Amino acid sequence: MKGLSGIVSNCDILDDVFEKFVSNTKVFKDREVLRHDYLPERLPHREEQIKLLGETVAPVLKNARSSNLLIYGKTGTGKTAVTKYVLNRLGIKAKELGAPVRFCYVNCRMAGSEYRVFAVLCQNLGVSIPFTGLSAGEVFDRFQAGLDALSIIFIIVLDEIDALIKARGDGLLYELTRMNETLGRSKVAVVGISNDLRLKEFLDPRVLSSLSEEEVVFRPYDAGELRNILLERSVAAFCEKALSDGALSLCAALAAAEHGDARRALDLLRVAGEVAERKGDGCVFEEHVREAEKHIEHNRVIEALRNLTLHSKLVVLSVCHLNKVNASGAITGDIFEVYNELCCEMGVTPLTQRRLGTLVNELDSMGLLNAKVISMGRYGRTKKIRLEIARSLARDVFATDGRLGRFVDYEPKCFSKNPHN
Ligand code: ADP
Ligand code: MG
Repeated sequence: MKGLSGIVSNCDILDDVFEKFVSNTKVFKDREVLRHDYLPERLPHREEQIKLLGETVAPVLKNARSSNLLIYGKTGTGKTAVTKYVLNRLGIKAKELGAPVRFCYVNCRMAGSEYRVFAVLCQNLGVSIPFTGLSAGEVFDRFQAGLDALSIIFIIVLDEIDALIKARGDGLLYELTRMNETLGRSKVAVVGISNDLRLKEFLDPRVLSSLSEEEVVFRPYDAGELRNILLERSVAAFCEKALSDGALSLCAALAAAEHGDARRALDLLRVAGEVAERKGDGCVFEEHVREAEKHIEHNRVIEALRNLTLHSKLVVLSVCHLNKVNASGAITGDIFEVYNELCCEMGVTPLTQRRLGTLVNELDSMGLLNAKVISMGRYGRTKKIRLEIARSLARDVFATDGRLGRFVDYEPKCFSKNPHN
């Protein structure tokens, strides 16, 4: 109610605050359940993969080496969750039976180098190695000797192996898949997990044939499957009646449209819950999911910009400057000119125009730039390049970038030379 002066009285403001607080029923029962690394008790729609994986590793319970295994599928299709689930159960069974089995899970992307992968494996076996200082070969020898002394069957899970192979080649896999030839008392089996379906193209044929003794493919989930997965999780994650059916279905549908990614679906659900919570709404509805989608997209763009290499950042920044003066898009030649000037100002050697063209294409496929081929009638065709994201967003990200900050409000000198810009 407004007072005589037309201003909302202090009393009314507080009424509002208290009312909101009291009526604000909790949304989450346990939001941790929606995090990526939470391992659920049940993994619906992966029964077949669980069975295949189980059958592959089962021989170790009878003291026989299990086949090497290659698992692949896009992100969020449950590869990590299923593998950890099966191995945990195997561990329990092996203990019951007293089978000499050990296993070690390594995320290769996080480990970052072959040395670190071997270091994790050594640590798991209780073989000590220094943090640095040994050659990769020496670490491998210590690992092999340590392993053999234990007389066990060792299952090595190398998750996100594609990341390591693309950066460092397949030497690690080569060594590991050949190890049984030199081991006397112990045996190894390798489970490689790849998010990239083209992993095979990066592998030496010998490594490939030995690693893929067995193969399991994880197909993307469809909307119905994602809905079931979310439904099971939501029971533990949300308070009763705090999640509408419409919101749940929308999360599943949006994630299915992307590439059947359960991780994406869980993110949408969690962020939608947070949006509802912040607004003081007691239940998550479709509008909260829509807002969550925007939040996630916004963060994805910021992350992508931050993680670009210096030259890609300079290309985006050049397009930013050009789009400011001409919104219809810039041609590669102009981008190259501004880019060259920025490189010169920074004292870094510029890439060739051809290489810059490749970067533009990469940035286009990442959704940061938009490169469109336009017909110029009898003058042939040309490519017009625009920013695909808000210029203010790119500016904000680069403004906080140590090396680039001062170029955000920079006025390229070549602009004054080229009136057509
Ligand atoms: P990937 O390793 O293939 O990228 P993850 O195994 O990490 O995928 O799965 C992503 C997220 O989705 C995890 O939180 C995981 O628990 C969940 N998830 C994936 N598949 C299922 C499923 N079938 N049932 C329940 N949760 C699942
Ligand atoms: Mg994974």
